[in-house]
Amino acid sequence: MSNIALSNKALKLMRLCDLNGFDSLDDLLLATALKDAVCPAICMTEGCDHTADMEPDQDQGFCEACGGNTLVSVLVLAGLI
Ligand SMILES: [Zn+2]
Repeated sequence: MSNIALSNKALKLMRLCDLNGFDSLDDLLLATALKDAVCPAICMTEGCDHTADMEPDQDQGFCEACGGNTLVSVLVLAGLI
């Protein structure tokens, strides 16, 4: 994976924290771990920051905003799955 993709991942993780009202990724991951079935996911398309609750291992969820199969769960983004 290229450096560009990695920094985009980091950007999306930060954005996901912002949108969910968390100051740090650790807080977001902890809150996610305490939930059972779903976790926050964000669209990886540039310029689209649509979020939704997805299965924890989701890496190609459907984005209602841009129509791509581009939603990736925070756990996949953070490399925990
Ligand atoms: Zn999208």
